[in-house]
Amino acid sequence: MRKRVLVTGGAGFLGSHLCDRLIREGSDVICVDNLFTGNKDNIRHLLGNPYFEFIRHDVTVPLYVEVDQIYNLACPASPIHYQHDPIQTAKTSVLGALNMLGLARRVKARVLQASTSEVYGDPEIHPQPENYRGCVNPIGIRSCYDEGKRMAETLFFDYKRQENLDIKVVRIFNTYGPRMSLNDGRVISNFIVQALKGEDITIYGDGSQTRSFQYVDDLIEGMYKMMNETDKDFCGPVNIGNPGEFTIKQLAEKVLNMTSSASKIVYKPLPSDDPAQRCPVIDLAIKKLDWKPHIPLEEGLKKTIEYFRPLI
Ligand code: NAD
Ligand code: UDP
Repeated sequence: MRKRVLVTGGAGFLGSHLCDRLIREGSDVICVDNLFTGNKDNIRHLLGNPYFEFIRHDVTVPLYVEVDQIYNLACPASPIHYQHDPIQTAKTSVLGALNMLGLARRVKARVLQASTSEVYGDPEIHPQPENYRGCVNPIGIRSCYDEGKRMAETLFFDYKRQENLDIKVVRIFNTYGPRMSLNDGRVISNFIVQALKGEDITIYGDGSQTRSFQYVDDLIEGMYKMMNETDKDFCGPVNIGNPGEFTIKQLAEKVLNMTSSASKIVYKPLPSDDPAQRCPVIDLAIKKLDWKPHIPLEEGLKKTIEYFRPLI
C-alpha cells in the first residue's frame, strides 16, 4: 500500500523538492501551503499526478486528513519574509506545530519538524553540536522565527513525553538550490541574481560572518532518512548541514567568478542579531542516519546558477 504523506509548506523551495522525492518513492502526497512564500510553479509538474494533491490552507488553522507521515515545513525561512509579519511567523511556527502534532496524535502518524540552525542563535560555541543550547535574543527582529522554532521543538518533545507521539526533529543549516524564488532575499539567491543582472552585490556588514551552505539534494536525502529511520527512540534533534564553512565575502567572490559578472561589491549595514558564525557538527547524522552531504559548494552553485540564468 502507498504511504500517505502530508507535506506542509510543500509549495516552497524545500517542500517542493521533498514532494518530488516522495512521489518518486511511490508515496501518495498531500501538499498543504498558503502560498505566502511558496509558488504553484514549484509543484506545477506534479499537479496532474493522481498521487499528488494540493490544498491551499494556512497551518495556523486545524486540518484533518488521514495520513501516515507528516513533514512540517510550513514557515517562511528568509529573514525579509519572516520579518514582514512577525506575528504571523510566530503563529505559523507555534500554532502550525500544535495543529500538526494534534493531527499526528489523532491519525497516529509519525511527524517530522523542519527545525533550524537558528535555534543556536548567535552561537558562542563553534561548530555547533546538537547539545549546544544556543544564544538567542528573545526580543529581537529574528526572535519571531528563532523562538517560534524553539517553541515548536519544545512542543514536539512534550507531545512525545506526554502523548508518546512518534516524532522526529531535524535542524536544517543554510540550504540553497533551484526553486529559491528570485525575490527570496537569502544570500545565495540574492548574490546569483545580482551577479546575473549585473547589479551591485550587497554584502551586509563587512562580509566576515560565516555560513555553511548545503545543496538542497543533500538536505532532502537527510530529512527523508530521518523520517524513515526505524529506531523510534531516535527522535533527534539532528543537525543536517554541510560543514564546509565560508565567509559571506568569499561567497560573493565565488559567485562573481563563476558567473563572470562585472558586478561590484557594495557594503550595507549588518542587520541586528545576524549570527557571526555558523557551522554544524554532523557526527550524529553520520552515526545514526549514515548520512553526510556529498555536494560541495562550487558544484551546487553551478547547478543553482544554471537554474537562475534563464529566469533573468
Ligand atoms: P520557503 O519560504 O520557500 O517555504 C516555506 C513554505 O511554507 C512556503 O511555501 C510558504 O508559502 C509556506 N507557508 C508559510 N506560512 C504558512 C502557513 N501559515 N500555512 C501554510 N503554509 C505556509 O522556505 P524553505 O527554505 O523551503 O523552508 C522550508 C522549511 O525549512 C521552513 O520551515 C524553514 O524554517 C526550514 N528551514 C529552511 C532552511 C533553508 O536554508 N532553506 C534552513 C533551516 C530551516
Ligand atoms: N547577506 C548578505 N547580503 C544579502 C543577503 C544576506 O550579506 O544580500 C548575509 C546576511 O546578513 C547573513 C548571511 O548573508 O549574514 C546569510 O543570510 P541569509 O539571509 O541567507 O540566511 P541566515 O542569516 O538566516 O543564515
